[in-house]
Amino acid sequence: MSTHGGDSLPHDRRLTVLSGPSGVGKSTVVAELRRSHPEVWLSVSVTTRKPRPGETHGVEYFFADDAEFDRLIASGELLEWAEFAGNRYGTPRTPVLERLTAGVPTLLEIDLQGARQVRAAMPDALLVFLAPPSWAELERRLRGRGTEPPDVIARRLEMGRLEMAAEKEFDLTIVNTTVKDVCQRLIALMRSQFSG
Ligand code: ADP
Ligand code: 5GP
Repeated sequence: MSTHGGDSLPHDRRLTVLSGPSGVGKSTVVAELRRSHPEVWLSVSVTTRKPRPGETHGVEYFFADDAEFDRLIASGELLEWAEFAGNRYGTPRTPVLERLTAGVPTLLEIDLQGARQVRAAMPDALLVFLAPPSWAELERRLRGRGTEPPDVIARRLEMGRLEMAAEKEFDLTIVNTTVKDVCQRLIALMRSQFSG
């Protein structure tokens, strides 16, 4: 019940979650934020997915095998985790809690199932849904990325239909028209979380 200005903010308020259908542009936005706003700490997830060309262990993801992922779950080292389109993804718990305690603005880029787990564990977190300008554009982006075979793209689009229906569970939506606009809006939102 402290009333001492910023100190009264629950730490969870400094946590922002960015979610949205596969191919909408989440990792592009996060890459731009990493470049343009180093003051925001971006959680690095663990995944059992194989690296895409250009991805570096410890930067976009920590790449792990199934046994290592099982161990992380069993030892409670993940804040949340989910299986998505045949691979597992999870957020290492300790680094996130350390940043929140230190008052660092923190962003998680995770799927819908993970966003729901964060909502349950940290009700004050801000959940942002990144939406495509249209369904046709989402399909175009996912195919245009050219990183998945047709069956995986089909699976991700199928997931995308379900994910689009969950938009109303989020605190707000940002439409990914341009990456620059999305970054500016996200930063403004994270700042407003701090000022209360
Ligand atoms: P996600 O991480 O949500 O699965 P990506 O960041 O990999 O999506 O983006 C999917 C594709 O869409 C990529 O080829 C990316 O270059 C492109 N893309 C992302 N944002 C935009 C945008 N605002 N306008 C046009 N293309 C975009
Ligand atoms: P991709 O394979 O395209 O990098 O990611 C696939 C999906 O997994 C995306 O929706 C992405 O947001 C999600 N994802 C990435 N990291 C995590 C994580 O740590 N936890 C959860 N639940 N989802 C994640």
